[in-house]
Formats: sequence, structure tokens, C-alpha cells
Amino acid sequence: MACSRPANTFKTLGGGVPVHYDREPPLFPLGSKGKPASFAVESSFENQLDATMTELWKKCPLGKADIILSAGAFVCKSGQHGQGLAFDLDGIWWGSRLVLAKQYHSDSRAYLGIEAILRKHVGTVLNFEYNAAHQDHWHLDPGTSPGFDSGSRSRVLYLQMALRKLFAQPVKVDGLFSDETRKGVHAVFAALGLATAAEMDTDSKVDKALAKHWMAFLDAAATEGLAALAPTALARAVAPTPLQLLATLHDTLEDELPEHPARKTIERAIENFADHPDIAAVLASSA
Ligand SMILES: [Zn+2]
Repeated sequence: MACSRPANTFKTLGGGVPVHYDREPPLFPLGSKGKPASFAVESSFENQLDATMTELWKKCPLGKADIILSAGAFVCKSGQHGQGLAFDLDGIWWGSRLVLAKQYHSDSRAYLGIEAILRKHVGTVLNFEYNAAHQDHWHLDPGTSPGFDSGSRSRVLYLQMALRKLFAQPVKVDGLFSDETRKGVHAVFAALGLATAAEMDTDSKVDKALAKHWMAFLDAAATEGLAALAPTALARAVAPTPLQLLATLHDTLEDELPEHPARKTIERAIENFADHPDIAAVLASSA
């Protein structure tokens, strides 16, 4: 295939944080510290990635990271990677704390907090829920501009994931901009003070408010999600309470078996277990 590697390369992003390649098992497998590498992208896109990471360090309670993990940038193939206009982000190390895209289910708050910042700077972001190919990295490319579009499946998916996991709205994560999604937006925008009641008194006004205040929503999602990386949250994460473990169990069922016929039966069995007086007492004491 005819393709030409961009002359521009980088080894660090966000003010000198090294970017390592972590797709070379057995020594440098996914989720290891990887190995230093040089990544080729067009310089305009490098600048976007640089600004993304710089803002992430500013918003993250852990500050500047130590290592950015990547699955690659320029690849001689069709599409954005073949033009030097794409970057695959596997994860980020802050000291001994790793946020790995692949661990979305167990680390969803930090994951969604990072993605909020990615979305402020880079238009096209494909994530865990987008398809099976993107369950172990974020794909970033400047093929579209940042901003909300209710017809963009990847943007609606992120909105639904954030509404659900960061703001406790009972929204189905299916990529379709539904009335339920709009209701979640209304509730969260009102609670965060992102839009007034008058700005959201019809469906089309809610949609307009969402487009208008999308960046402010991403800021709020970043704050909410990245709080999972605050030192106190880290201490809590070491010893989750029984009640938190039960909530994680319910979330995992919901994520992994959304339409599975056995889901209800499993949920009933868990409820019966949780309702046992001895267990109920333990859960109540940890609430
Ligand atoms: Zn990619």
C-alpha cells in the first residue's frame, strides 16, 4: 500500500511525559510500563494531543503522569492511522497507579474522567462501548471537531456512560439519543447549574442546551471522574465497603449481561443473599 510516514515524530507529550509502547509481549505487554518509542503523527495533531495531556495533568488530583501507554500512531494502512492522524491510548501511569482503558468496568470513574478531557480537545474518540476492537484502548483522531452531535454514536455513548456512571442517572448505554437520555441530561444539567429551567423547558431546548454547554458538561464529568484518583479515593479503593462491592456486582451484571435471560435469576439470588439478616446487618453497618 502506498503510504508515507509523517516526518514529524514525538517521544513525549504534555510537557515531557514519556509515551511508551506496550504491545510487545512478553517483555512489554499491554498494561506493563512498556518501552520508550517514537510515534509519527502530523504536527498539528501532536499539538492537539499535547494540549490534551497538559489539561489532564492540570485537572487530575495526581497531577502530571509518569508514563503514557500507547498501542501506536502511524500505521501503513487505510484510514486516519495511515495518514498520521490517529493515536491509540492504552492507559496512563501515575506513580504506581495505572488507569488502563481495558479495565473500564472496574475503574469506570477514572476512565470517564480521562475521556472527558480527551473529548474537549480531539473530535473523534472511540471507547470501550463503541465496539469490541476498542475495549482495550481509546482511539483518537482529528477527523471531526470536538462538540456534541446527537447523531454521533460515539458521542452519545460517552454521554450515556457519564450520565450513568458519574451522575447516577438510570440511562441505557446504547448510543441512541433517546427520551431517557434527554431526561438524564435535563436532570444533571439542572443539578450542576449548567442550564436554567427556562433554557430546558422543551425537548428541543434541552438538545440545544446540551450542544451549547457540552464543554462545561465535559469539565464537570472530568472533575467528577478524576476525583476517583484523589488520594482519599485511592485509600478507599484499597478497601471498598461490602455495600460498594454489592453495587459493583450489580453494575457488572448490568454491563456484561444486559439482555441475558439469566440476569434476572442471578439478581434475585443476589438479593436473597443480601436480604439474609446476618448479611443485611453487615451491609447496613457499612452504609
Ligand atoms: Zn486507532
